[in-house]
This record gives sequence, structure tokens and C-alpha cells, in this order.
Amino acid sequence: MAQLPKSAAYYNLRDVLDTGPANGSRTCPVCHLISKSVTRYLDSLLYELVNDPGVRQEIRDARGFCNEHAWQLQKLGGALGIGIIYRDVIETVVKFIRQGKYRRTQLLSRQRLQEALSGDQPAAATADLVAVLEPQGTCPACRQRHIMENVYLGTLLEHLDDEHLASALRTSAGLCLPHFRQALQLVQDEPTFQRLVEVQLACLERLDGELSELVRKHDYRFAGEGFGAEGDSWIRAIAQVSGQEGIR
Ligand SMILES: [Zn+2]
Ligand SMILES: [Zn+2]
Repeated sequence: MAQLPKSAAYYNLRDVLDTGPANGSRTCPVCHLISKSVTRYLDSLLYELVNDPGVRQEIRDARGFCNEHAWQLQKLGGALGIGIIYRDVIETVVKFIRQGKYRRTQLLSRQRLQEALSGDQPAAATADLVAVLEPQGTCPACRQRHIMENVYLGTLLEHLDDEHLASALRTSAGLCLPHFRQALQLVQDEPTFQRLVEVQLACLERLDGELSELVRKHDYRFAGEGFGAEGDSWIRAIAQVSGQEGIR
């Protein structure tokens, strides 16, 4: 593979992999970088982008942020910015609710008949209002997260033939399953696929060994041995399978 210029994303990846457990590499490096990147995005949104008409439209269309990012925003504070953003959403929702109509359906219409047979409520009568209150676009923070995930995973794949990066990744937690799946979707050639799978299997097999050790030491016959590095492997296993808390 031709040597590509190394980007800021490459150095961020190297940094998180090189600095070890203290910097979070006991969980998926992409999870770690993404949660920092989303926090930075929400912060800039609150303090710099509140009056950007495009961003405000995007938030109105999404009917606010998704549950996860809305509460992350609340933890960042910024009563004024959040007040302005959410007043917009509330006013949008109020406008649609005012326009909403209860659509009377014929008692024996096919829709009512199907609903009656399936035991559902006659949802058709309010379906138009329900539809317009649904998000009409992606949560802006989710969209930003997806973009940055692809940047980091693409960079990782581009530089997987860099032995320093590959061996740092091999000794880290590896990618969580959601990010491994996403990385696989970005792979464009077989050598990269082979390298990615080899590194990921090394990480998963090491964790599997630690979990086996954890299970063995819970046997009363070995209880006196005490726990080593495998002591928190059960928490790392959750992060490995589901990704770091809050990434989805
Ligand atoms: Zn991850
Ligand atoms: Zn979101």
C-alpha cells in the first residue's frame, strides 16, 4: 500500500494507543476518541453554533437531539444555548400539534377491519400527526459521530500496514464489535481485511483467556489466589461487545 500522508486522526489514534490504560486504551480506541469528539462538537454547538440557521434547522428537523445526546448536552450546561435551541423545537412541535386533525375512519374500512382483527388501536386516525412529530432527520450529534467514526476507522485501515500502529492496536482492547463491523464495511482490499481480522482476533482471544481465568478464580478451590489483571475483564467484555457506554 502506498504511504499516505499522516493526518491528525492518525496521530490521535497513535496517541490513544501509545499512552496505555491511563488514557483509555483498555476500551476500544475509536470509542474513546469518538466520545471526546462528540463532547467537543456539543460544546461548540452550545457556545458557537447556537445562532447558525442551518444547525438550528437540522435540530428542528430531528425534533431535538436523540435521548443520549440530549442528556449529554444537559450535563455540559449552557442554559441560554439549550433554552434557545429547545424553544425552537417546542415551537415547531406546537405548530404541528395545532394543525393536527383526528381523521375519522369509516367503521368498516379495510384499515379499521385489519386493526380490529389484529387487536390494535385504531392508529390510522392520528397517524398523520404521529408521523410529523417523528424525527424528520438524524440527530446532529449522531451524524457528527458517524462522520468521525468513519474518519478514524478509515485512517486505522489506511495505516494498518504500519507495524507500530498494528502492534499497539494488537496490545490494546481492539475494536468493540460495533466499530469492528463498521470497519469491515470500509475495507476495500483483502490484505487489509486479513490484517484487521488478525489483530482483532488477537485482542478477542486475549480477553477470552482473561475471562476464563476470572471464571476459574471464582471457584472456591482457587479463591485464595486473588485477582490480577483479569479482575475487571467482565467490564471490558461488556465494552468489547456493546461499545463504550453512550456510543449508540
Ligand atoms: Zn468502539
Ligand atoms: Zn444523537
